[in-house]
Amino acid sequence: MYVDSHCHLNFPELAAELPAILDRMATNQVTHALVVSVNLPEWRGLMDLVAPHRNLWASVGVHPDYEDTHEPTAEELADLSQDPKVVAIGETGLDYYRLSEPLDWQRERFRTHIRAARQTGLPLIIHTRSSAEDTLKLMREENAAEAGGVMHCFTETWEVAQAAIDQNFYISLSGIVTFKNATQLHEVAAKVPLDRLLIETDSPYLAPVPYRGKVNDPSKVIHVAEKIADLRGIPVAEVAKASTDNFFKLFNKIVK
Ligand SMILES: [Zn+2]
Ligand SMILES: [Zn+2]
Repeated sequence: MYVDSHCHLNFPELAAELPAILDRMATNQVTHALVVSVNLPEWRGLMDLVAPHRNLWASVGVHPDYEDTHEPTAEELADLSQDPKVVAIGETGLDYYRLSEPLDWQRERFRTHIRAARQTGLPLIIHTRSSAEDTLKLMREENAAEAGGVMHCFTETWEVAQAAIDQNFYISLSGIVTFKNATQLHEVAAKVPLDRLLIETDSPYLAPVPYRGKVNDPSKVIHVAEKIADLRGIPVAEVAKASTDNFFKLFNKIVK
């Protein structure tokens, strides 16, 4: 069996297809998916979407790409995370790719999420793009290691992966690992200890080969696992088992 540790099933293109997606997940033995929050105005809809499904779980948080949106306090995030379906804080982090300085608000928001995670004991889902150095620095300054969590859709070097693992984080690989030119990521996929590995789709984005360019969904996470198994020269069942075990260990609020 497989799990998708990061998807956005509440985004309209996927929400409209939910019954068909759940069927495809069952066919591919993708038993669970974590639906990750990107802002609070859309969070209620996300919670309504996961509520009737015992294999769908949620996080609460505000993505670093949303500049003009409600800015949460740590107390507010902690309060919302009391819902039994909420198993993580995020996605949060830094993204210097789309936006330019001054980004103090982004760093401050990231600190707020780390504080909320430490307060609640829930793991962090961290997004980092063109900002690895600052992301690791803020994680250290705010003692993110105490909460632990996952570096989602990991695209950085093996050195950055090691630094995150040293801070009690898991490394989650997406469909990018199936792309031919992602050689730096192939190294990470081969080296990351199996007990630190998660897999995800980040759907609707980043469909893995052979679906590249199409709308992604959690059933396609099996192609991420297959590529990692290929790169490591091990059976895909081993990648499936390790990443599934790690998922339930990290997001330990999930009731199986
Ligand atoms: Zn992200
Ligand atoms: Zn995401």
